[in-house]
Amino acid sequence: MITTDDLKEQTDADESFGRECNHTSQLSTLSSQLLKKYWGFDSFRGIQKDIIDSILAGRDTLGLMPTGGGKSITFQVPALALEGTCIVITPLIALMKDQVQHLRGRGIRAAAIYSGLSHDEILRLLENAVFGAVKLLYVSPERLSSELFQTKLRHMKVSFICVDEAHCISQWGYDFRPSYLTIADIRKLLPEAPVLALTATATPAVVDDIQERLGFRGKCVFRMSFERKNLAYVVRHTGGSKEAELIHLLKSTQGSAIVYARSRQRTRDYAELLSHEGVSATYFHAGLDNAEKDQRQRAWQVGEVRVMVATNAFGMGIDKPDVRLVAHIDCPDSIEAYFQEAGRAGRDGQPAQAVLISDDGDIQKLKQRIAVEFPPKDYIRQVYDHLAYFYQVGVGSGYNATFEFPIDKFCHIYHHFPLPLRSAMKILNRAGYIEFTEEEENQGRVMFLLERDDLYKLQGDTKEENIVIEALLRSYTGLFVDYQYVDEAFLAMQSGLTQPVVYQTLRSLTQKKILNFIPQKKTPYVRYMQRREDSENLQFPPAVYDELRQRYVDRIEAMIHYLSSDHICRNRLLLRYFGETDTKDCGHCDICLSRQDELPPSDATTQAQTQITALLSDGQPHPIDHLHRLSLDLKVLQAALAQLIAEQAIINDDGLLSLNQ
Ligand code: ADP
Ligand code: MG
Repeated sequence: MITTDDLKEQTDADESFGRECNHTSQLSTLSSQLLKKYWGFDSFRGIQKDIIDSILAGRDTLGLMPTGGGKSITFQVPALALEGTCIVITPLIALMKDQVQHLRGRGIRAAAIYSGLSHDEILRLLENAVFGAVKLLYVSPERLSSELFQTKLRHMKVSFICVDEAHCISQWGYDFRPSYLTIADIRKLLPEAPVLALTATATPAVVDDIQERLGFRGKCVFRMSFERKNLAYVVRHTGGSKEAELIHLLKSTQGSAIVYARSRQRTRDYAELLSHEGVSATYFHAGLDNAEKDQRQRAWQVGEVRVMVATNAFGMGIDKPDVRLVAHIDCPDSIEAYFQEAGRAGRDGQPAQAVLISDDGDIQKLKQRIAVEFPPKDYIRQVYDHLAYFYQVGVGSGYNATFEFPIDKFCHIYHHFPLPLRSAMKILNRAGYIEFTEEEENQGRVMFLLERDDLYKLQGDTKEENIVIEALLRSYTGLFVDYQYVDEAFLAMQSGLTQPVVYQTLRSLTQKKILNFIPQKKTPYVRYMQRREDSENLQFPPAVYDELRQRYVDRIEAMIHYLSSDHICRNRLLLRYFGETDTKDCGHCDICLSRQDELPPSDATTQAQTQITALLSDGQPHPIDHLHRLSLDLKVLQAALAQLIAEQAIINDDGLLSLNQ
């Protein structure tokens, strides 16, 4: 038995103890002590302990906990208790940095590898992990496929792999991220290491899919109800304008709020509208530059601005506890997305509202999204042909050719609408014909495709090419091993060329396969992953089209059901969607409240009960229609009588009523 006092101030001591513990029960005791020592918490919450014990026992484990439920502790504590490094895969770089800082502040050796770091920094971090100096190594999913990472990983002692936001691995989920599929490959490199998957949004189908995609070696799922008791879900149907409803809603409530809208343009319009109405508001979407995003988020976070009007780009990882209202002015296309966004209200446990503002057009709009998300296959074939005309790629050629994809120009020339076009591109991507990338990188990347020696032998075709190659070699290291972030403006300065010339030169070096350049601009690009096919021969197997479309239709239908249902408690309906059946009416959603309105006021009922009792006080049985003599409101009468019978104050013998003496 060890006591807290025995624990030295360094993680090393914990680790060496962990090494001696060959019993899971000892590790489990150690976990509680680590929780107290590093976080100051006295006990685990809910299912935290079950999840931790399961991963300590080396079992592949899936933990389902609502947002704010305390998922982080479930991997951070065992990471400390077990020997080796825990690899944490999580999609958002901002979150990753936060967590690492937080852990370091507690004296825990954590590090993060993400795209913004230089090659040298990454190398050093990986070396540290190999030498066992890192307990938690956060990695963005895109990094997993890097050769450098995989090479170093083979030499690491990995305690377990943690996959946060694990629903991102499921194509059936609403937030599929293809880079998550690489996790299965990583598992093959680390056959010993168990995996811990965590999520706050998963339907029963997604729960199964996560385990399958991650190659679970046994079923081990721990579930904590997703219920949020302090959150009142409300659907507000309006016959008039949604804007008026929104203004009314914000004027009649207080406290911090988020308003979700579907388009970037509308976030701005609504924020302006609200400001005009005297409600303090700002807006946020992915198209803003980072400084603007930070500034607006901060203003809202500290309460300088009350309302944040945003697209769904806002929210993940935002941990503002006192949001009192999350309103949706456009309907999301899945319950998962809605639940996730609504759940950002009331993290502090105080009463909060999630209001979906809807009008008669919403159902139609939701149905239209199906055709936008899954355009007809012939349309996709047409897009494929247009791509080939646009880039002049002949049938049978084009393999590996990479092009910038100016969406607006393309739409203009071939008369496409951007949304279905993007969907068609994504489907072509999934089917393996092209790679379509719409990265939100704000730095360009370069990697040499030739070996260093070959490069020195090579004389570039033009003077510019030689100058740019030289500038690259002088300014950056690691270009032969992996992609490195390069700054086009800096290269222009170094080389004495203008920025457009640097850009053009990098592009031409790419075409000559001397290097690969991914431009800095947010321009999407297209790469042919196969030689161009005759579009007649394009195949869209069920797994890339029909099955996914069906899932999407199911999600839309569930959302429509939520919008239009007028008799099931909203809380129940949402929880049922996530497979929870043992639920109660919440008592504060619009449905529950409307039921309370239907009941007569309680003092009227009490009065009616007195009258009924008086009528029956002669001790005789009375036929039920005698009660009409009391000339009471029918609803009140029914409610009063039902209650008396339920309380057994009155006996109803086949329509004859008498007092229960
Ligand atoms: P999630 O990732 O599930 O959304 P977090 O891991 O961010 O949630 O935890 C939410 C909050 O709960 C954090 O502030 C965390 O410190 C707190 N918390 C987690 N576990 C415990 C515990 N056992 N006792 C007290 N507070 C806890
Ligand atoms: Mg979390």
